[in-house]
Amino acid sequence: MTENKFSSIKPRMTKTESLVEASRCLFCHDAPCIRACPTSIDVPMFIRQIMTHNVKGAAKTIFTQNILGKSCAHVCPTEVLCEGACVYNHLNERPINIGRLQACATDWAIENNICFFKKGLPTNKKIAVVGGGPAGLACAHRLTVLGHDVVVYEANEKAGGLNTYGVAPYKYTNKDSLQEVNYISEIGFEIKTNTPVNNAMIHELEKKYDAIFLGTGLGKSKKLNVSGENLKGVCGASEFIYELRKKEQKISVGEKVIVLGGGNTAIDAAVESSKLGADVTVIYRRSEKEQNAYFFEVELAKKNNVKFIYLASPLEILGKETTEGLKCIKNKLEKKNGSKKSEIIPIKDSEFVIPCNMVILATGQEKMINFYSSIPDLELNNGKILVNNFFQTKNPKYFAGGDCINGGKEVVNAVADGRDAACGIHEYLMKGKFNG
Ligand SMILES: Cc1cc2nc3c(=O)[nH]c(=O)nc-3n(C[C@H](O)[C@H](O)[C@H](O)COP(=O)(O)OP(=O)(O)OC[C@H]3O[C@@H](n4cnc5c(N)ncnc54)[C@H](O)[C@@H]3O)c2cc1C
Ligand code: SF4
Repeated sequence: MTENKFSSIKPRMTKTESLVEASRCLFCHDAPCIRACPTSIDVPMFIRQIMTHNVKGAAKTIFTQNILGKSCAHVCPTEVLCEGACVYNHLNERPINIGRLQACATDWAIENNICFFKKGLPTNKKIAVVGGGPAGLACAHRLTVLGHDVVVYEANEKAGGLNTYGVAPYKYTNKDSLQEVNYISEIGFEIKTNTPVNNAMIHELEKKYDAIFLGTGLGKSKKLNVSGENLKGVCGASEFIYELRKKEQKISVGEKVIVLGGGNTAIDAAVESSKLGADVTVIYRRSEKEQNAYFFEVELAKKNNVKFIYLASPLEILGKETTEGLKCIKNKLEKKNGSKKSEIIPIKDSEFVIPCNMVILATGQEKMINFYSSIPDLELNNGKILVNNFFQTKNPKYFAGGDCINGGKEVVNAVADGRDAACGIHEYLMKGKFNG
């Protein structure tokens, strides 16, 4: 039952479906779908290859730009990236289903273990990659193609980062993610799992390696700092989803769940709780149109019976030992002269209580400032690691990419960063390019 509820929301196309869909493509000159992809996949090229029965060629076109082309095919918000840019939108017709076509080619290549790359001529340079998520894996793969020796250090039991422990399972499963990790690492780099790099260990790595790439993502869910936060039944969204993915959806939730937040993580936690049988309400302090979550994710939540309360903030989580309810206050928004964002004003005497037995906090993730502060000269901006155009930090031996530099975007952005940082590291090691 649970398994069924979590089945893919974008099921695989049949061969005939893929041929019909590919034949709709207009193979545009200067195609906007390529420009909209952060990894610049040649979309019309791989669609033409699918149309001419060259699925292997299509997979090669995709993986040349994006070695995590399989996960991106399944998890990318294509509606606002490639498909959102497709010219069909201007003709008032359905855009080409680029994501699902990409999945046809990449799923096939990985399931048949068709590899397109091999390790480059040895350079005798050694690089440590901290973090085995999309950024780290893309970086490690490209560095290996360039001939470097790479070791990935991953804190979790399994690699893949949020593809394995974060993304909703109705988009990408554990099996998909781990199969992809194996496929990518088969080129010949090592992944040391269960190996968190701590403040002391980073200095050991610094002595042992010629360069270090940080693809560490973001930290734990942020706390709310309201009373009752330590009650049983209160948890962070990242931690809740981590457990869900780790136990392959075999977890239980409260009968009545409240999710606090207005981003995509809040929506994921809400939909997942609802699929697990809970009555779910999302509470967001601002208005519906200011919500960060994509419209299509909100629609998915509504289809899954998730309710929304806008313009309300939590004041206190109620209960003795376990969560029994949430006390909130209603807000109004006021535009102050000169400021872009309106200010949230609590409305006097508007408090209300919603009974619940679980509260999931999806109000952002912390940055790993303590770990970063142990690396000399690393500069941060609001907890994000600062890098130059080569993805090099202020400490020339360290490079970084993915969520730890952008504060939390998408898998495809992390892949683009990891890939391009590998080229930066190569330039630095082979030609001595330093940050300016
Ligand atoms: C709940 C949730 C759902 C999401 N859904 C989507 C989606 O549907 N589509 C999409 O495109 N994006 C989605 N995202 C965003 C996407 O997952 C991230 O942008 C992407 O995974 C970032 O990749 P990364 O490699 O930078 O970081 P991560 O994927 O977080 O990987 C970082 C890795 O580094 C490891 N690590 C950290 N510190 C250390 C250390 N000191 N030593 C060793 N290892 C360490 C971590 O264990 C982790 O494996 C989602 C994010 C969340 C939180
Ligand atoms: S914009 Fe649409 S029609 Fe044009 S090449 Fe891209 S997918 Fe094909």
